[in-house]
Amino acid sequence: MKRRTFIAAAATSVATLGTSRGILATMETPATGAGIVPLDKSPAEWRALLDAAQYRVLFEEGTERPWTSPLNDEKRDGTYVCAACFLPLFESATKFDSGTGWPSFYAAIDGSVGTKRDWKLILPRTEYHCVRCGGHQGHVFDDGPPPTGQRWCNNGVALRFVPAGEALPELRA
Ligand SMILES: [Zn+2]
Repeated sequence: MKRRTFIAAAATSVATLGTSRGILATMETPATGAGIVPLDKSPAEWRALLDAAQYRVLFEEGTERPWTSPLNDEKRDGTYVCAACFLPLFESATKFDSGTGWPSFYAAIDGSVGTKRDWKLILPRTEYHCVRCGGHQGHVFDDGPPPTGQRWCNNGVALRFVPAGEALPELRA
């Protein structure tokens, strides 16, 4: 990336910090027309709905400590939904043990997440967000298993697991 482009990107991300609409606007792959209507809440509204750890990861792009999520050991069939807006993001069939200490999947549900470059480290990483609420979920890497070769490394607090046979929660309004 050229330096000028980098500065412009950095300025954009600073200017849009703090609103989920801003995050949605900077995503490189926004909703793919799956009929998902964006949910835009203020930081204060999300703070009231989520606990502190969830809020920090989802809306301040924090990262939970590895090996802290009970979802690491979750092996039942089911669906992983966004902990903020309840949009289904991952199916248990794509979960695998990455050994990283974070719940990991080799694919996200089509159209459920958008990606953008994250320049916090020297090497750019690709972070992804729930397309509906803009909540930060994790980072995707290209060292995953077949069939995709992708590793979607997700913060456990940003997900809620719904076992197969249980009704998915209604999307949060
Ligand atoms: Zn969401």
